Amino acid sequence: MSLRSVVVVHPGGDDAANCGSLADRAYEELRQRILDSGFEPGTALSVPALARELEISRSPVREAVQRLIHEGLATHVPNRGAEVARLEISELIEIYEVKEPLLGLAARLAATRLTEVDVDALKAMMDEQDAALTGDTPESRFMELDVAFHGFIADVAANETLRRTVASFENKTSRAFPSGWSNREYARLSVEEHHAITDALIAGDADAAERASCAHVRKVRIRLARRHGEPHT
Ligand SMILES: [Zn+2]
Repeated sequence: MSLRSVVVVHPGGDDAANCGSLADRAYEELRQRILDSGFEPGTALSVPALARELEISRSPVREAVQRLIHEGLATHVPNRGAEVARLEISELIEIYEVKEPLLGLAARLAATRLTEVDVDALKAMMDEQDAALTGDTPESRFMELDVAFHGFIADVAANETLRRTVASFENKTSRAFPSGWSNREYARLSVEEHHAITDALIAGDADAAERASCAHVRKVRIRLARRHGEPHT
C-alpha cells in the first residue's frame, strides 16, 4: 500500500516538512501490522524494502522503525538491522507477575477517585465488551477494548508514575493478546473478570477492586501460560 496518496505533498515543497507526517503514518501502519500479527515476531524491518512498498522515501521509514525500537515493538539486531521484537512466553509471564500488583494498586486508587462521569464511561465500556462477545469480533478489537479498560482505570487512579509504568508494558503484552483473546472462552472469562472489577469500582470498595484486579491479571497469566504449555504456579 502506498502512503503517499494519503499525504498532501506540495510540489517542490520542503521535503522535511512532509517527513514528520509521513513518518507518523509509516509508524502507524507498521505498528498496526505488528499488533495485528501481520508481521510475525522476527520479521525483518528493512528500511529500503519498506520504503519501496509504502512508496515513500527512506528517512520517514527509518524514523518510524526507530520509534518502534524505542517502544519495544522492534529490536535492532547487529549486522541484520531491525526486526519485529520476539517475545518469549517466559518474558510475558514475568511481565504479568509485575502487572498483577500494579493493576491492583491502580484499581484500589481508582475506587476512591471515581466520579459520576467515570462510572458512566465504565458502564459504556462494559456494554461494548459484552457486545463484542456476541458478534464475530476480531481479536484486535478485544485487545483494543482491554487496553482501553485498563488504561481508563489507570487514568482514574490519577497517579502519573503508576500510569506511565503500566503503559510501558502495554506494547509488549498487547501483542500477546491476539492469542489470549482468540479463545472465545478465555475472552468470556476476561470480560466476566472486568465486570467484577467494575462492580467493585462502582461500589467504591477499594479492597474488593484491588482483589478483583489482581485476580484478573493472575488468571490471564495462568490462561496464557496454559495456552503455551508453560508451568503456571
Ligand atoms: Zn483485562
